[in-house]
Amino acid sequence: STFVGASFGGIAELYAQIQKAIGATERVFELLDETPEKINSTQNETAQKIKGNVTFKNVAFSYHSRKEIKVLKDVSFTANFGQKIAIVGPSGTGKSTIASLLLRFYNIDNGEILIDGKNIYDYDLENLRGNMSIVPQDVILFGGTIKENIAYGKPNATDEEIILAARQANALTFIESFPEKFETIVGERGIKLSGGQRQRIAIARALLKNPSILILDEATSSLDSESEKQVQEALEILMQGRTSIIIAHRLSTIRSADQILVLDNGKISEQGTHQELIALENGIYKNLSNLQFSNS
Ligand code: ADP
Ligand code: MG
Repeated sequence: STFVGASFGGIAELYAQIQKAIGATERVFELLDETPEKINSTQNETAQKIKGNVTFKNVAFSYHSRKEIKVLKDVSFTANFGQKIAIVGPSGTGKSTIASLLLRFYNIDNGEILIDGKNIYDYDLENLRGNMSIVPQDVILFGGTIKENIAYGKPNATDEEIILAARQANALTFIESFPEKFETIVGERGIKLSGGQRQRIAIARALLKNPSILILDEATSSLDSESEKQVQEALEILMQGRTSIIIAHRLSTIRSADQILVLDNGKISEQGTHQELIALENGIYKNLSNLQFSNS
């Protein structure tokens, strides 16, 4: 079962619409991630390496086009570097918005977002984004070779580094099954990859980029169980040694998170480990957890 189906039946009719909106947002992320002006950290030796401490302090935010809807009213949390922070909550509640704010696609209305104690808006934008990677639900690759798509985050990567990243991302076997291997053209004019394969390419790209902050936005929610297993394994490797913000649909993927944040009505309504949250009588997380595990 899913979040929406299991417990937010009241908004289920909006689900298709919201999914569309989410898909669109994630494509924007992906496109923006591909902007050519992005400076690679190796090209900019003075670029500051971010450690990855993330703090939201009383953050409030509305989209310009819909000022009347306060998407985030008062969101506060801290993710220390190396931690896995999961964000759960109903569809349309602002989880992907938190990701967009971290990537600095919008200005917040109130509060502060700090990275390593410094205001996010005081960073050089390219330096900031050069230290982050996002793996969305629906990865769009550009029309080039698999190799170019993987090396995008590090243009001077060696073949060995690219192969290693592909192997760690569980992508090497399927890449090598193509006659042209790493030179295979993907996208509209080339081979059509499955959703799980595209995600593993995106994971290989992120491994090469080696970001301090990783955002997974429902990265495994649209995959069949075989792909999910392969992608999940690759994500576990990718998450090591960096701050990971995991936006999750399925609770089973976040049980081991250092902190789980339940986003509800523009605020963090519950915060703790899986064990702490299932101990809360009448807690939202506890109820979701009961629903998801009882009928799965
Ligand atoms: P979630 O990821 O939790 O499903 P989102 O962060 O995508 O939720 O969306 C939160 C709310 O903001 C929803 O009501 C959504 O329709 C709205 N929204 C998302 N992106 C935009 C946008 N670019 N412009 C206007 N409204 C948006
Ligand atoms: Mg979302």
